[in-house]
Amino acid sequence: MITINNLSFSYDNTPFLQHVNLHIDKGCFCAVMGPNGSGKSTLLKLMVNLLMPNSGEILVNGKSLNDYSQRELAKMISYVPQREDIIFEFSVYDTVMMGRNPYQGRWGSASADDDRLVCETLERTHLAHLKERLLSQLSGGELQRTLIARAMVQQAPVMLLDEPLANLDIAHKYEIMDILAQLQHDMGTTLLLILHDFPMALQYADTALLMQNGNICHYGPCREVLTSDIIKPTFHLDERFTVDENGNIRRVKR
Ligand code: ADP
Ligand code: MG
Repeated sequence: MITINNLSFSYDNTPFLQHVNLHIDKGCFCAVMGPNGSGKSTLLKLMVNLLMPNSGEILVNGKSLNDYSQRELAKMISYVPQREDIIFEFSVYDTVMMGRNPYQGRWGSASADDDRLVCETLERTHLAHLKERLLSQLSGGELQRTLIARAMVQQAPVMLLDEPLANLDIAHKYEIMDILAQLQHDMGTTLLLILHDFPMALQYADTALLMQNGNICHYGPCREVLTSDIIKPTFHLDERFTVDENGNIRRVKR
C-alpha cells in the first residue's frame, strides 16, 4: 500500500531523515511511536506532500506521491494534523463537510449524500449537538474530534493521524480508537497513528513503528516491538522504570 524508498529529508539544510525505507501493508493499524523530536510528525507530513524530500520516493499503491494530483491524493490519504491553527471561523458542520471537497466539482456544492454522511459522522463522534458551533468556541478535545470527523468523511483508504488522542479524555480516547478499529475492520482502512500511549497501542494496533533521531529503529508486530527491552533504551528510561507486558510504565520513587 505505502512504500518508502531511500527517503532523505533536511530541515534548513541540516539532514534529518536519512535513507528511510519502509513498507506498510494495506489494512495495517500501525502505531508510530518515539521520543519527542524523533521525526514522527515529519514522516507523516512527507507522506501527504506537506514536506518535500531531498531524495528518495514515496509510493502509494505503486504510484509516486508526485504523480497524484492534490484531489487524487486527498481521495487516497486523509491526514489529521497534530495541531491546526484556526484561521477562518467555520462551524463544526462546515469544517467536517470540507472532508468531502475532493468529491465535489470546483464550484460544486454538497449533495444530499454528503450531508447524510457528515451528519452520521457527527453523531458517531458525539459532535452533533455542536454542529453550528464555531471552531474557536470548542474545547481542545472537541476540536480534535472535529478534525478526526473531517478526515473520516474523506473516506480515504489510508488515514494518517498525528497524536489524535492528545486532547481527549479517557472515554473519548477509547471511542476514537474503537471507531478507527471499525474502519480498519469494515473498510480495510490502513491506519498510521502517532501515539504516546503504550497500553493503547498494544490493545489496538497490530504493528508498531519506533523512531529515534530521524530514523526508524524498530518496525514489526506490536507484541514484538513494544517490549521492555526495546521501549526502555528507545525512550531513555533508566533502571528506575519498569514496563509490564501490557505496556504500563512505572517508576519507582526515590
Ligand atoms: P516528533 O513529531 O517526533 O516529536 P517532529 O517530526 O515534529 O518530531 O520534529 C523532528 C525534529 O525536527 C525536531 O527536532 C524538530 O525540532 C525539528 N523540526 C520540526 N519542524 C521543523 C521546522 N519547520 N524547521 C526546523 N526544524 C524542525
Ligand atoms: Mg509530532
